[in-house]
Amino acid sequence: MKAAPLIRQRGVTALLLGLLRPRDNIARWAAGRIAFIAVVVLAGTAPLWLSLGDEYTAGLAIIAVLFALSYNLMLGSTGMVSFGHAAPYGLGAFTVALVTTKVHGSAIAGLLLAPVIGAGFGVVAGIFCLRAVRLYFALLTLAVSQLFYVAAFQSYGLTGGDNGIHGIPIPDFLNDPGSVYYFALGIVAFGSLVLFVVTRSPFGAALNGIRENRQRATFVGLTVKRYELAAFVIASTFAAVAGALYAIYDQQAFPGLMYWTASGIPVVMALIGGMRVFWGPALGAVFYTFLASKVQNSTVYWDLIIGAVLLFIVLALPGGIAGFPARAAGLIRRLRARSMPTVRGSPPTEEGTLALAAEAALSAPARLQAVAEGVRDRSEITPAEGDFILEAHGLVKRFGGLAAVDGVDIRVRRGQVHAVIGPNGAGKSTLFNLISGQLRLDAGSVRFDGRDVTGMAAQRLVRAGLGRSFQTTAVFPGLTALDNVRLAIMGIAGDTRLPLGAASRRHCARAARILDTVGLTAHSSRRAADLSHGDQRALELAISIAVGARMLVLDEPTAGMSPYETQRTLQMLRRLITVEGVTLLLTEHDMEVVFGIADRVTVMAEGRVLIEGAPAYVRTHPEVIRLYLGEDARKPVVEVGP
Ligand code: ADP
Ligand code: MG
Repeated sequence: MKAAPLIRQRGVTALLLGLLRPRDNIARWAAGRIAFIAVVVLAGTAPLWLSLGDEYTAGLAIIAVLFALSYNLMLGSTGMVSFGHAAPYGLGAFTVALVTTKVHGSAIAGLLLAPVIGAGFGVVAGIFCLRAVRLYFALLTLAVSQLFYVAAFQSYGLTGGDNGIHGIPIPDFLNDPGSVYYFALGIVAFGSLVLFVVTRSPFGAALNGIRENRQRATFVGLTVKRYELAAFVIASTFAAVAGALYAIYDQQAFPGLMYWTASGIPVVMALIGGMRVFWGPALGAVFYTFLASKVQNSTVYWDLIIGAVLLFIVLALPGGIAGFPARAAGLIRRLRARSMPTVRGSPPTEEGTLALAAEAALSAPARLQAVAEGVRDRSEITPAEGDFILEAHGLVKRFGGLAAVDGVDIRVRRGQVHAVIGPNGAGKSTLFNLISGQLRLDAGSVRFDGRDVTGMAAQRLVRAGLGRSFQTTAVFPGLTALDNVRLAIMGIAGDTRLPLGAASRRHCARAARILDTVGLTAHSSRRAADLSHGDQRALELAISIAVGARMLVLDEPTAGMSPYETQRTLQMLRRLITVEGVTLLLTEHDMEVVFGIADRVTVMAEGRVLIEGAPAYVRTHPEVIRLYLGEDARKPVVEVGP
């Protein structure tokens, strides 16, 4: 043990920190189990040791748990901010109220009907609100819930107007505080379990992917809107159940349940408790409900107090209460690292250092040589003349008066590397966006792999085998490298429609193999956001392999990379071509890269194709030399010989 003498040296501080060391997975696992058992025991015995008043509050808190957890399926899992979650909650409450008082049915029948009403609301309101994204989605949800509030408020005959409906009759077996508490507890436990299963399923993984990167999610084959709608519907369904439970528990329903401030409550609960941990909003719900019951009625400063609490949490505990253990562990780790600098990290291995030095020592001509060798190797494997995997004719894209792409024809042979070059603003990115379905064509047609794909939506193109990367890096930043690849595999396979089973147990071997192809095995459990720029690009390629791309459209794959990273990326691209047999269509500003790796080069300027041909032909073409070097046309484009 290296650490022992150090601890002795550094005395008490180090010893204490040593004792506090989070023992990683086992400790977390045990802590999780203990916390779970504690919660079950506490909630299960609450009526035995709480005062009658607090027991009543505990019941409200438990109902709020379902309200907050259902909300967090949108906020925490999918990244959708809704300000209208009180609407399905209120609808659930009124369902029970109306079934019992107007139809003279049982409250239980109302409770069973509520999720149906909630889901119906979710479908209709969801389709409407999801016409917009982000802020505008939030505003639409707010508008919809206010609409329901006003409708309930105005329909005096049906809802009792301002007053609402009181004295809802409930079955005899619920007529004492203890039994109605356990009734609510049972249903909330069941609902929470369902939400938990959904959250960790492949479907839940897709929601997380959407939260992390909407655009990337599309490009692993997910129809984002459909998943968002599903999240909205599920959330509304369970909110309605919570509302129905409230109506039974409190024996009343009133329009105020749907007022916009009520929609703010689950937001506050999720923020206080921590939206990134499944049980976080539940903690927030209990905390909020008890705080409200103790303080709200005894002071006029309630809004001020809850505002201050929220401010404190957001500033001091950004992950909420549930995020605290992880933050504390991180803090302890940092403190330990500071108190014992020698234990941190391991020195680089000799081979590693040598390899790095060798890479760094590669001069530009040597790099080009290395690239050329890679390409030569490949020519033995791939047929010289494949058919055309991509044929695009007469592509046009106008932005206002400007024709960014103005009648471009391009054909790419299967198994080849086809590069598009040209000055900034030539229309290369726009062309790639047209081919990959990101932008709508104004004119022209595209055939891919023998099919007419003109105007096909991006995610369908991905399924057809056309992958792409972006000029800015596109991964799922908050997910681990392994989860990034796993999500891509699940997305393309359609697994993400499954709301059952643990996503973390699927496709482990395949995902690990793909990470190995791009050299990321050592980083598989790190968050994508924490990877270096070069590693993120590598991860992006891994995602492309995972979606089964036969052709990759790469917009400046080595942009912003150091020479070493560029080198690594090129090696990886070569591996993609040889091992996975993909065709590459790429743009690149680095001429070395282009002439080293491409089989065919298209030169664009001002939205049109200027020249197309073999690299040797293009490289020495006077027009290209003029385009790239201006008047200084005597200098060759690349410094290496023929
Ligand atoms: P490149 O990738 O070759 O540098 P782009 O395809 O990005 O060129 O741009 C081509 C031209 O189209 C440029 O003049 C650019 O300003 C314009 N352009 C690109 N995207 C848009 C857009 N979304 N809206 C308006 N103009 C655009
Ligand atoms: Mg560009």
